[in-house]
Amino acid sequence: MAPLTTPSPPWALLAEVTHACPLQCPYCSNPLDLVRRSAELGTGDWRRVMREAGELGVVQAHISGGEPLLRGDLEDIIAAAEDAEIYTQLVTSGLGLPPARLDRLVAAGLRSVQLSVQDAAAPNSDLIAGRGGSFAAKEEAATVVTAAGLPLGLNVVLHRHNIDHIDEIIRLGVAWGAERIELANVQFYGWAMRNRTALLPGRDRLARAQKVVDDRRAELADAVEIIWVVPDYYEGIPKPCMGGWGSRSLTVGPDGTALPCPAAYAIEGLDPPNVKERSLAWIWERSSAFAAYRGTSWMPEPCRSCPERERDFGGCRCQAFALTGDAGRTDPACRLSPDHHLVEAAVSADEEIPALVYRRPGRRRS
Ligand code: SF4
Repeated sequence: MAPLTTPSPPWALLAEVTHACPLQCPYCSNPLDLVRRSAELGTGDWRRVMREAGELGVVQAHISGGEPLLRGDLEDIIAAAEDAEIYTQLVTSGLGLPPARLDRLVAAGLRSVQLSVQDAAAPNSDLIAGRGGSFAAKEEAATVVTAAGLPLGLNVVLHRHNIDHIDEIIRLGVAWGAERIELANVQFYGWAMRNRTALLPGRDRLARAQKVVDDRRAELADAVEIIWVVPDYYEGIPKPCMGGWGSRSLTVGPDGTALPCPAAYAIEGLDPPNVKERSLAWIWERSSAFAAYRGTSWMPEPCRSCPERERDFGGCRCQAFALTGDAGRTDPACRLSPDHHLVEAAVSADEEIPALVYRRPGRRRS
């Protein structure tokens, strides 16, 4: 049934232009069934998506993947965003970004780059990424980006295998010229859920890391922005995922699937629309998938009567589904959730730490 009221327009688009990737990170949040390259949207589809996004009110697009540099038509996609007056940020591993390629992307309209890195030094960064030489390529990419005068952000997913190096990671970001360092405590969606026990850092490591972040923030003041993505498994406080479901941003996947959140592929019964069949305006304003958990009226107790409901929107729908099988329940990360014991059991389990399972090409969605 179509929603009765028209929602405010989104301001951000996450364009996942491919699931293909040269790395094999064990914390990958992409879905278990990846979209094949043969099923990806074509250049014309992405041009239309960008045009419709601009018409809808989107002002910022994060061009992501997988590794978006694997798309030979990335320049065309960025140019379409530029034509639609959308600010573009490339979210990349940094592999495959020689100066000539960046020059072409900048000429097309690229405005900033967010670079992922797995640790502060090559041996462990390459080990986590599952690819030798990847740290050196990232370092080179950082040099190329800053030499071109583009704002550089560094994104580091934190977990048991790198969180003790957080001071060195922040120093690395400063040395590479990052204006923003995002320290993203690992979130357990997609492939990352398979490695949950191996990735959970433990309370002591987290507490030490938080202290380092506080100290370095005070020291660096306004020189570098340091973002600390809350480790919701440990804090009992759910994150306001995506700023509210269908509230601020939308994701378009490699095959055109449109979702309120990139992890929502996994939610069964959501019936997500596809940009090949519907306009972005229809998807945003009229699709049942985007309306499903928008606002607060869908909420069960304890969210329904909780003073925090307008702040965190009941937490993350994808996490609720991953842990309980029902995306409409309160996020189990919340200490008030009747399912919070599921999270507490995970963080307090006294299990042997298993080896990481790397993300390798395998079962894919067609
Ligand atoms: Fe947020 Fe719901 Fe928990 Fe309240 S009960 S803090 S609204 S998740």
